[in-house]
Amino acid sequence: MKVAIVANDRVETKAVEKNIKKLLEIKNIEIDNENPDVVITIGGDGTLISAFHKYISIIDKVRFIGVHTGHLGFYTDWRHFEIEKMVDSLSKKEPSAVSYPLLELVITTRKGEKKKLLALNEATIKRVSKTLRADVFIRDKFFESFKGDGLCVSTPTGSTAYSKSLGGAVIHPRLKALQMTEIASINNRVFRTLSSPIVIAPDEWITIKPEVGDDDHYVVTYDGIRFNHKHIKKIEYRISQHVIRFDKYQHTHFWSRVKDAFIGDEKE
Ligand code: NAP
Repeated sequence: MKVAIVANDRVETKAVEKNIKKLLEIKNIEIDNENPDVVITIGGDGTLISAFHKYISIIDKVRFIGVHTGHLGFYTDWRHFEIEKMVDSLSKKEPSAVSYPLLELVITTRKGEKKKLLALNEATIKRVSKTLRADVFIRDKFFESFKGDGLCVSTPTGSTAYSKSLGGAVIHPRLKALQMTEIASINNRVFRTLSSPIVIAPDEWITIKPEVGDDDHYVVTYDGIRFNHKHIKKIEYRISQHVIRFDKYQHTHFWSRVKDAFIGDEKE
């Protein structure tokens, strides 16, 4: 059993990191940041997302454990005062894992080059200074012509992040589905889009073809990371064959997390 640790810079995090390292040493669990079996993240959801991208090349073999040192997160189960129990669970021979879908995006340039990327939360295409014009296809069938600021395609676990701010539904992470939401679409007598989020089935895919011209103004992001490429012909979005695996620990079920994050305590 080899463990990697990814932590943010907060003072509370540093103290937790020190304790975890001490406990790992007591249990004779090796720290290996190059080739771990388990990645422990300490911080928030953002820390977990950065760890996911750091270890993406070994995503099929690695499991994640998220310890939160701020507010309760969507990818971070363990609280800082439970780390002893968490390190104990690492020494179990057959840990149970829970897995969540990932978004695969394949970007094709006009020269025919292809780039495949994975996202844990979402991917967006936006145009900042002028209106984005793009055709949207579902299962390669033309669906609509979009005009507006941009489009966002998110995973179920990403549905509580940017997608939610765009008016998307919160989707239970056990559902294998992708959701597309619009960012400030123009809708009038000339331009018309569906104007509501759509959720596609596991065997479906979405293709976005931005209109040719002035394409250096497009911004493509995945999990908040900018993909730098001009001359994009199309982007295909589908559920990846890969998943992210977490060591199973459910002290808070999904809808309680949603309530905790967005509603807070209110009278029963
Ligand atoms: P960031 O500052 O690292 O994150 C922005 C906030 O989003 C943080 O509070 C983060 O939680 C939270 N977050 C991340 N994933 C989440 C999830 N699955 N469910 C609920 N909340 C989540 O921003 P970034 O580095 O630019 O981008 C990382 C992610 O943040 C993006 O993938 C995007 O989904 C989200 N984001 C949202 C908006 C928006 O809603 N308008 C804007 C920008 C980015 P922690 O504090 O626990 O890290």
